[in-house]
Amino acid sequence: MSDCIFCKIVADEIPSRKVYEDEKVLAFEDLNPHVASHTLIIPKKHYSDIADGIPDDEMGYLFNTVAKVAKIKGIDKSGFRIQVNTGADAQQSVFHVHIHVLGGEPMNIGSPKREK
Ligand code: AMP
Repeated sequence: MSDCIFCKIVADEIPSRKVYEDEKVLAFEDLNPHVASHTLIIPKKHYSDIADGIPDDEMGYLFNTVAKVAKIKGIDKSGFRIQVNTGADAQQSVFHVHIHVLGGEPMNIGSPKREK
């Protein structure tokens, strides 16, 4: 997609700090890390979110990349969290599906509860 910033990163039109790349996926450092280690994994093909009809094999490949990235980042033993923000309530801000891989420090459980 021409106006998608993550498609521009895939096309090398916007710089990124790459962590891992192969023919199907790209992993790069988040520009505004929430924790000590914060990597984003994206499919090279554009899908807006996980409800955008990603074929099973591509979805599986995307999620299997998490372990590779955790190992590269040295957080596979200490533990890590993955997060996929989807839609407005989850505050998805970039509409090219991506997995956040968070780690490198202890984290609290971060699921906001609805006000009663
Ligand atoms: P989300 O809110 O789940 O859509 O996450 C989008 C993430 O993309 C945020 O954590 C941003 O910091 C990150 N981000 C936005 N632009 C860039 C960029 N050019 N390079 C790296 N990360 C980015």
